Amino acid sequence: MQGSWGTKGLSRYAMDIKRLKALISEKKEQMAADMMEMSRIPAVNPRMGGAGEYARMQWIMRWFDKRQIPYEVYEVPDQHVKEGVRLNVVVTIPGARTKDQSLWFISHVDTVGPGDLDAWETDPFTPVEKDGRIYGLGCEDNSQSVITTMAACEVLFAEQIQIDRNIRFYYASDEETGSEFGMKALLLKGLFRPGDEAIVPDGGSPDGSFVEIAEKSQVWLKFTVNGKTAHAAMPHLGINACYIGMKFGVELEDSLKAKFDREDPMFHPPMSTFELTQKFANVESPNVMPGKDSFCMDMRVLPDIPVDEVMGHIYGLIGKYEKQYAGITIETEFLTRTDAPAPTPPQSRVAVNLVEAIKETGTEAYSGGIGGGTCGAVLRAKHIPAVIWATLDDMCHTPNEYVVIDNMVRDAGIYLSVLSRYEP
Ligand SMILES: [Zn+2]
Repeated sequence: MQGSWGTKGLSRYAMDIKRLKALISEKKEQMAADMMEMSRIPAVNPRMGGAGEYARMQWIMRWFDKRQIPYEVYEVPDQHVKEGVRLNVVVTIPGARTKDQSLWFISHVDTVGPGDLDAWETDPFTPVEKDGRIYGLGCEDNSQSVITTMAACEVLFAEQIQIDRNIRFYYASDEETGSEFGMKALLLKGLFRPGDEAIVPDGGSPDGSFVEIAEKSQVWLKFTVNGKTAHAAMPHLGINACYIGMKFGVELEDSLKAKFDREDPMFHPPMSTFELTQKFANVESPNVMPGKDSFCMDMRVLPDIPVDEVMGHIYGLIGKYEKQYAGITIETEFLTRTDAPAPTPPQSRVAVNLVEAIKETGTEAYSGGIGGGTCGAVLRAKHIPAVIWATLDDMCHTPNEYVVIDNMVRDAGIYLSVLSRYEP
């Protein structure tokens, strides 16, 4: 593969972005056709009731084979799929100056399950093109990224374009249930190096203005107040866990909001959020005083506030209640805990280049943070600047998911524009 590069030489010094964008525009029909074809191959994550993304990954490999674009396949053993392995495909365009640094484009090939089939107006596994959109399971999340990066990759190969560092297009398995057989496995193999950067087109906004560079820590806590059940007419024989739970819950939320009220304008909303959410059924009759009260809180904590500091406050409040109401205990359980890594610096090269490439299209782009839960966090935790960006209507994980065909053309063009901002 290496040998085929630099024979033309010239093109890498003259990356004509207008020409490249024109080449991408010409691929609009092809991208739509590829989206239709690929979306017919189910790729539901095995831990969400599907057979996995193996067959779809093979379609991707055949696509590259047809164009004589070389790639590497990383197999990760998984006993839950009939093939016994999950596939990860990486196409590399070697760097002209260094092969020790890479700019990654990461797309995931697995999808979630279709959910409530009655809520779908079309069969989620039979893509339908209508009004400039393609409807089908996974079309946006994350097939949009798969198809747009493949098109960009094809143009780069056809034009023999290199930049200073490696460009790596990674088609990942298993993103929807934690990336254990995908990105995390490749991180363990040492494929990502210090100095690498990544664009992850797995989130965005309808006008494509928002570049996600940070996220809050995400914690789901379940609280259980243990008191003593009794007849409601004889309350002195028990301890009303519901009463104590309600008081505790309200003080918990109020005190967290008051104590951790700092704002960071990078985020929307700018402050940490603490919300009481799920409440669990207790007794089955209105005359029974509950001995148990269980409820949840969703917390999104700004990245520079340690989750342990928040937990310290919570444990302190629990201590106060357990002292005040003799005989009760309050248990806590983490249903989810993801501590946010340090944000990708807004001045990092990949963030700046992407924002500039978007602005070139007339869209006022900006970078900021969200409430948490993206795979960018895995990379940021390894000190790899990662940006999450695409132009999309945010239809992921919803019935009647669709991709806007024009957005595919726009995104692929912007990727090439980003690359033109790196040294040849
Ligand atoms: Zn996704």
